[in-house]
Amino acid sequence: MTLEDIKSFSLEELQEQFRQQGQPPYKALQVYQWLHRGVSSFDEMTDISKVLRQYLAERYYISVANIEKKLVSDYDSTIKYLFRFRDGEYVESVLMRYHHGYSICISTQVGCKMGCTFCATGKSGFSRNLAPSEMLAQIQAAQRDNDIRISNVVLMGMGEPLDNYDNVLKFLRLVSSEQGMNIGMRHISLSTCGLVDQIYRLADEKLQLTLSVSLHAPNDSIRTRTMPVNRKWPVEELLKACRYYIKQTGRRISFEYAMIDGVNDSDVCATELAKRLSGMLCHVNLIPVNPVGGTSYRKSKRDRLERFCRILERQGLTATVRRTLGSDINASCGQLRRKHTEEGGTTVEDIR
Ligand code: SAH
Ligand code: SF4
Repeated sequence: MTLEDIKSFSLEELQEQFRQQGQPPYKALQVYQWLHRGVSSFDEMTDISKVLRQYLAERYYISVANIEKKLVSDYDSTIKYLFRFRDGEYVESVLMRYHHGYSICISTQVGCKMGCTFCATGKSGFSRNLAPSEMLAQIQAAQRDNDIRISNVVLMGMGEPLDNYDNVLKFLRLVSSEQGMNIGMRHISLSTCGLVDQIYRLADEKLQLTLSVSLHAPNDSIRTRTMPVNRKWPVEELLKACRYYIKQTGRRISFEYAMIDGVNDSDVCATELAKRLSGMLCHVNLIPVNPVGGTSYRKSKRDRLERFCRILERQGLTATVRRTLGSDINASCGQLRRKHTEEGGTTVEDIR
């Protein structure tokens, strides 16, 4: 009998399964709470009878993220994890400590199909979608490893969340459920490269999460060069969907803009960007691009970033030059997995 993924079920679904199997549905709540506290085996569910624990173990598996590698930043205690799932696939997550608490950036797919030219994940191709339980497991593993409670979640690791729409939506409902981890939507951000049809879908869910849109260029000719998705959904269509998202949710959109030396960082680009975004409820995050092996992209200079930022502000936009946490270990999401896969390594490391 193939085992089912018990942590991807909602509480209602689990109660229904228990009912069908002749188990008392109130026990489903107990099991659900254990699962969302991050246990890795049914035997850890100490207030569940041995008989039921055995019954569950014969039908289901508990999805866990095993720590394969761990890099701790010298500067700011940011931790980057390489996690391994039960089928041997790897993803990366990054745990950051802010003054208001802990935030984790998690992956939603193993690899990515979108092929952005500046991105390490995009360069490694696509392997598979993550299940809702595997997204939860990344948070739980980091909490357990550090004995902390994480308050903020960012879907900005490997993969394109809106290309795994149903599983991501299910994850959002699970992680925010009161009987589960209870992380409110206002503490969750989702980053997309701009899958316009899915942005409309998400807007109609009217969730209070923060949508980040990876724009990275003020016009189609530059954007198409770095982001193939722009061929299908050009900038104007993307911005139209963003306006709809704002209208439906009342939430401010965050535009991500990776500054690449000589590609998208001129004064002309800043002015064009400001014009395009004018009047929108939004914020622009400027990030120096993280150079990835196999590309010739270089970071824009610091004074270029600041000048670009001032031009946007003068045109009435709010913009910030983003602080890069864990810059010594970061090397941008996707690089750790790529390196690890190439080396075939299996050790757990704590590099300082
Ligand atoms: N697929 C989603 C989310 C994962 S990528 C998306 O593209 O939005 C998370 C963020 O990292 C995106 O804003 C992406 O554009 C950015 N990113 C990818 N590679 C980068 C690099 N080399 N330097 C800076 N930002 C990068
Ligand atoms: Fe995929 Fe995002 Fe990387 Fe583009 S930037 S390849 S969408 S993970």
